[in-house]
Amino acid sequence: MLRFICWLYFGIIAMGAQAELPPSSAVQQEKDEILMLLAYSVAYLDWVGPKEKQKRGYNIAAVLYDNAQEKIIGVQRNAVGLCRDKTQHAEVRLMQQCIGSKCRGKETNYLNDTSIYSTLEPCMMCGGMMIFLEVSRVIYGQSDPDFGKNIERLKQSFKSDCRYKFESKPHVENICKIDIPANYRARNISSEPSSLLQRAQLEGAFYNHRLLFSSTITDFLMSAEAKNIYRAAYQRLMGFKSKYQANNNLLLESQKQLKQLESAPGDIDRCLVGEIHRH
Ligand SMILES: [Zn+2]
Repeated sequence: MLRFICWLYFGIIAMGAQAELPPSSAVQQEKDEILMLLAYSVAYLDWVGPKEKQKRGYNIAAVLYDNAQEKIIGVQRNAVGLCRDKTQHAEVRLMQQCIGSKCRGKETNYLNDTSIYSTLEPCMMCGGMMIFLEVSRVIYGQSDPDFGKNIERLKQSFKSDCRYKFESKPHVENICKIDIPANYRARNISSEPSSLLQRAQLEGAFYNHRLLFSSTITDFLMSAEAKNIYRAAYQRLMGFKSKYQANNNLLLESQKQLKQLESAPGDIDRCLVGEIHRH
């Protein structure tokens, strides 16, 4: 009986100790930080200067993370210059690469239960593709004041205001009576700004840069100021100490990815669409 009481007592203590574990949101926040730092670093390692934009593309990169398998399944950079193809945004390339290489096994048709960490808030094309492929979350490292909030737009229902009624064609009349609901897939994706300091720094620096030089966001992302912020992110990731053991493997994997990119520069910078046609 005494043994049972002891067992019960220590059992309760152990349960108490378990309750002392960090809340999952803190572990998740650190995980988000590591993966966002990785995205900045992937861009930093192949930095394109203001006069070299045809070399590869813009300084924008993205990371694809499989939430179910808890692993990184792709990293990519913008390659609109290299591929002479304006659709080759980092996020599009990331998703094409994963689907094309069956990165989640035989059934890689959708990217449900994945997160994308993009250094810049997704554009309409990338946001639409994420929704279409059922990506669960997108976390971005800089808001885009001109072309952002696209996932939020796609979540909205549309109510026709019937301004075209004057055409008085029956089918137009019918369209005017319809409320078009939001794309049902758009309900399941969340789009969140990163909590990292780098995001606030980039947004502040871009605000000033635009006031001074009337520059676009992609021009700003080739400036020395932006490069310094990206470099600091890279250095932070290389020296990162994770507070939570649960993130140790992810941290090691992220640092390994960077070392691989450093030893084989240009390895991820291929024109994916061209390659698919050649086969
Ligand atoms: Zn895009």
